[in-house]
Amino acid sequence: MIRTRFAPSPTGALHLGGARTALFNWLLARRAGGEFLLRIEDTDRERSTDAHRRQIEAALEWLGLDWDGPAARQSERAERHRERVGELLEAGRAYCCDCPPERLEEMRAEQRRAGLKPRYDGRCRARGLAAAPGRAVRLKTPRAGAVEVADHLKGTVRFDNAELDDLVIARADGGATYHLAAVADDIDAGVTHVLRGDDHFNNTPRQLHLYAAFGAPPPAYVHLPMILDERGRKLSKRAGGMDVLGFRERGVLPSALLNALARLGWARGDQELFERTELARRFDLDGLNRAPARLDPKKLAWLNREHLRRAGAAELAAEFAWHCARAGLDAGRLPEDARGALLEVQRRRCRDMAELAAQSRFLLEDAPAMDPAARARLLTPAALELLRELRGELAAAADWSAAALDALLRGYCERRGCKPREAAAPLRLAVTGGTVSPGIGDTLALLGRERALERLAAALNGGLAE
Ligand code: GLU
Repeated sequence: MIRTRFAPSPTGALHLGGARTALFNWLLARRAGGEFLLRIEDTDRERSTDAHRRQIEAALEWLGLDWDGPAARQSERAERHRERVGELLEAGRAYCCDCPPERLEEMRAEQRRAGLKPRYDGRCRARGLAAAPGRAVRLKTPRAGAVEVADHLKGTVRFDNAELDDLVIARADGGATYHLAAVADDIDAGVTHVLRGDDHFNNTPRQLHLYAAFGAPPPAYVHLPMILDERGRKLSKRAGGMDVLGFRERGVLPSALLNALARLGWARGDQELFERTELARRFDLDGLNRAPARLDPKKLAWLNREHLRRAGAAELAAEFAWHCARAGLDAGRLPEDARGALLEVQRRRCRDMAELAAQSRFLLEDAPAMDPAARARLLTPAALELLRELRGELAAAADWSAAALDALLRGYCERRGCKPREAAAPLRLAVTGGTVSPGIGDTLALLGRERALERLAAALNGGLAE
């Protein structure tokens, strides 16, 4: 069975690159009916925080990247890691090292001065030191020969063992290092495929030596090319704005971001639009690209509009409620059918969810404040006269549907010899408090007869009072 994992370090928010790694691992597992695991690599106690862990999990949940079983916490497996280090010591595949940091520093400085790559000189390798507090443990890396990394995208790459250090697998304080913990956990979890960022490629030969030392078969590796921004800069170097939940704040739908992430380095013909289920059906490693992927904000905006039109009711309702709450509005006060009608109208005209929520304020507030500048400009004596007449016609309307209301307004303007805009703009202002809303028929229909006429009356009273 295919088993993949996403192994973020909770030292920051989930950013786009991490989310893409998670997505590809998730897709590979879901496509094959396998398992997708989440492992929080929180062994760096100083930089890991619980808030970041929660944020990463929330971002994955928002994207719908569900993991199998409970999320594992690497910090809770310290005992197991110690046990694994002990096994390697016992088997003679590792040794204890008491070289003080100053010696190691000096040695590295000297090597650098001599133009050599800094590496451990193996001083403790044959000393046969027993395990003791204050002693690190190093892996006995073969001195000769080479190790071959077979990567799905890069092909087979040879690393001379002479280039590799005797890797520290447990620090002097007894804690396992990243390499040991990652490999031990992947072996225990039965991970078959590791898809991760390119930046981990140079770790792989070291980790392969660990697999060999444990006598365990290594997973298949796919190192994903980096993501560049629209100007060709490395995304990870870019300051801010790239964390997943930031995209949510800016109104991106999870289905749209998922689609955009999938297309960052994966393709199927020239198809751009993908639904989650289709992705999970079609994803394949052969569709991955070797070249760095480029994030195009215009493409993301386009995808978001397309997904806004297509999104299922549940996704739309969830995002709507979230954005309303963020804007201090309560989406829950709308009955379900009224909310459904609102979303059907808004999804076709809005660019994103943040705009959609903002432009739904008129329906969610009892008495939206009127924009004073628009009021001065639009509620002229002539316009008020017109609104008074219109109110009479609207009050008598037999049919309060958007189409009927638009027809009523058109008929009124024809008879009166005015442009539709001359009636619609003050009417919109009167019933919404602003100048931007759905088409006037839709706006009135969404408000309902009673609320629309009440607001119109209030605006007329206010207008007359001035
Ligand atoms: N914890 C590592 C990171 O966040 C991932 C290591 C791996 O995928 O093997 O970059």
